[in-house]
Amino acid sequence: MGQHMTPEEFREYGHAAVDWIADYWSGLSDRPVFPSATAPGDVSAALPTRAPAGGEPFDAMLEDLDRIVVPGLTHWQHPGYFAYFPANTSGPSVLGDLICAGLGVQGMLWSTSPACTEVETVVLDWLADLLDLPERFRSTSAGGGVIQDSASSATLVATLAALHRASRGTWRTAGVRHGQAYTVYTSTQGHSSIDKAVRIAGLGSDALRTIPVDPQTLAMDPEALRRAIETDTTAGLTPALIVATVGTTSTTAIDPLPAIGQLAQRYGAWLHIDAAYAGAAAVCPEFRWIHDGLSVADSYCFDPHKWLLTGFDCDAFWVADRATLIEALTVMPEFLRNAATESGAVIDYRDWQVPLGRRFRALKLWFVLRWYGATGLQEHIRTCVALAQDLAAKIQQDDRFEIVAPHPLSLVCFRLRGPDERNEQLLRRLNASGAVYLTHTKVNGRYVLRLAVGSPLTRPSHVATAWELIQREAAQ
Ligand code: PLP
Repeated sequence: MGQHMTPEEFREYGHAAVDWIADYWSGLSDRPVFPSATAPGDVSAALPTRAPAGGEPFDAMLEDLDRIVVPGLTHWQHPGYFAYFPANTSGPSVLGDLICAGLGVQGMLWSTSPACTEVETVVLDWLADLLDLPERFRSTSAGGGVIQDSASSATLVATLAALHRASRGTWRTAGVRHGQAYTVYTSTQGHSSIDKAVRIAGLGSDALRTIPVDPQTLAMDPEALRRAIETDTTAGLTPALIVATVGTTSTTAIDPLPAIGQLAQRYGAWLHIDAAYAGAAAVCPEFRWIHDGLSVADSYCFDPHKWLLTGFDCDAFWVADRATLIEALTVMPEFLRNAATESGAVIDYRDWQVPLGRRFRALKLWFVLRWYGATGLQEHIRTCVALAQDLAAKIQQDDRFEIVAPHPLSLVCFRLRGPDERNEQLLRRLNASGAVYLTHTKVNGRYVLRLAVGSPLTRPSHVATAWELIQREAAQ
């Protein structure tokens, strides 16, 4: 014990770990989705206060997973998991990740592992093709794609590139303290990561304008955006960035990209599209309308780690003009100098992200795209959407409930008519059942339940059970 694991030991324990995952997946529906019985401190109290002095057998680790860890988990892959947005994983994704971990390569520069960079470039081009994204995002044009850890990082990186462009390059040396003051726009429904990006970029939250939305669709009001930009430009401020959302976190509202794109072009602001959840739907031609107007965007992202069967972390981020992004983020210390970079013939993805190091995340995405193929991915999306639409139809037929927002994809937002407290109680009782897990939001100031269908294990019977439970608890 305590020695390095030999390849033979790794083979043995690796099989045991894969068996453990397969058993976990097979037994998921017998577990409560949400660990209602776990109180704060329970898990840490079950762990030793010190790391072991000597090495322990691998079996002991698997046993502790069963005994301590799993009972304290929310089971995001559970067929009754309807909370937040899904965070899918899948067999090919896990195996791709395992191989990535086993290879343990760093892909910060092309020269630190050429295949790590080139597979990523090709896979992101494939994905752009599968979603029918504009030509300008492909690596064969002036743009290109890269994997970020999260949509939050994509927004941050877009913010930095936008500042670089808006400042005509002076931001790199002078920062945002001197000279021009910059403004950023999103809707009141934009994700909290936009506020975070604005703060990290040094603009301060006061630079963020949250634009009102249409009360019915909850999509950004482009006329209100125009007024906000004009007020700012009149005051001598520079609109640097607009973040429009395709599929907002609360309700999957879809901002009107064509009108927003026109304003971005008129005022010279960088347009970033955050399609973290909804973007995956565009693998199906019938849902590509969600991207109408995308052709003028400067950058776009969606999370295969949400709804496209690829385990966290995997955000796909594309830019139309990679030169601006690279100029904004590149730094070249002596120890990274190499002939390939200097030749200008290669991509160094370290210049497309905040950290220097990067792992071979493209492997899991590559495996997923190859295992499922376009038709397999489409089937997954279509199944989820159909299940959500069936549920929405049932809710609509029950007078006790109201649906509070458009539900074009696989999220349904609904509430019991009447006071918020009844809805809060309903959510508590549903989640205490252990069969389902839902979360809530507020729409136009009212407490609302969200049910997002996304797990590949979710079958019609699971959604039917959820609906029966909702009806039964509502009758209480
Ligand atoms: N943007 C939107 C619209 C989201 O719904 C979310 C998460 O749900 C995010 C950004 C943040 O995603 P990530 O966890 O990848 O940063």
